[in-house]
Amino acid sequence: MRGEFDLIRRFFETATPAREDVLLGVGDDCALLAPAPGRVLAVSSDTLVCGRHFHPDVDPESLGHKALAVNLSDLAAMGAEPAWVSLCLTLPEADEAWLASFMRGFSRLAVAHGVALIGGDTTCGPLSVSITVHGHVEPDRALRRDAARPGDAVYVTGTLGDAGLALRLRAAGEAASAEASLMARLDRPEPRVRTGRALAGLVRCAIDISDGLGADLGHICARSGVGAELDGAALPLSPAVRARVERDADWMLPLASGDDYELLVCAPPSCEAALEQAGRDCGTPLTRIGRIVAGAGVRMHLPDGNIIEEAALGHEHFSD
Ligand code: ADP
Ligand code: MG
Repeated sequence: MRGEFDLIRRFFETATPAREDVLLGVGDDCALLAPAPGRVLAVSSDTLVCGRHFHPDVDPESLGHKALAVNLSDLAAMGAEPAWVSLCLTLPEADEAWLASFMRGFSRLAVAHGVALIGGDTTCGPLSVSITVHGHVEPDRALRRDAARPGDAVYVTGTLGDAGLALRLRAAGEAASAEASLMARLDRPEPRVRTGRALAGLVRCAIDISDGLGADLGHICARSGVGAELDGAALPLSPAVRARVERDADWMLPLASGDDYELLVCAPPSCEAALEQAGRDCGTPLTRIGRIVAGAGVRMHLPDGNIIEEAALGHEHFSD
């Protein structure tokens, strides 16, 4: 097995293009990296475990994409520019075809974002993928969870609930007849890196939506010491999710399903025109969906006058 992994390691040496700030990449005991002058490092790790975060029969190319995408989404949420990534793989066997496919998905996204694979670890055991991304950002421009203030407006990129709907359709065995673009929202999320960079310096507060709108806005509220009021009628929904919400009054789909990887942004209303421009420049619109208030907790006002209270739901409903 050891020898096979040595062979496989060649995959990693050529997986991504060279960067000038990588003085020494895959192949030695450590990578040697030159941090960007005037910037601070933004570092984040995520682990995906087979059986918990993905099915054993997952398409490896999609898994390679998604494992990197969820990490890049964290950099986007800080307004950071991605630079380097390390990859720790635990594999039950040295299946070269599986790994080649995994690395295709991983590498395509890494190349698209100019990220260099700078090292990692490969061990034998139950399948899991652990990734650490490194980016950099101007120290006074980083987007933080603790910077929301009463009076701020709440914005979100893209649309909400698509990955949640795709997950339901797959669980019901209906994925084959679903729109490919809907399933892609679950399998190949596009991290909003460009938007995050455009927002850095423009606003101060953002988070990426990985657990669901309610839960992640709840994180901002808890860290900032504020509350939030959402307007259900304003939520940006794809036609497929809108149809479900209208048919079943299923507001939990856009409010509480995870894996959207959109950015949630809080900013004073005076930023509105600049945010709209950033949305146009980056090709992903930002929609105003509510406001930050004094107090605590997240509430959503529905078109029929009802209110969904975070406290009434219990935390687990918000965090999947
Ligand atoms: P060491 O025994 O010194 O820790 P390894 O034999 O584990 O080194 O790895 C040799 C080289 O291959 C190192 O540069 C390491 O970063 C790289 N490497 C191992 N696994 C991976 C991986 N999954 N992705 C990227 N690089 C890897
Ligand atoms: Mg060593």
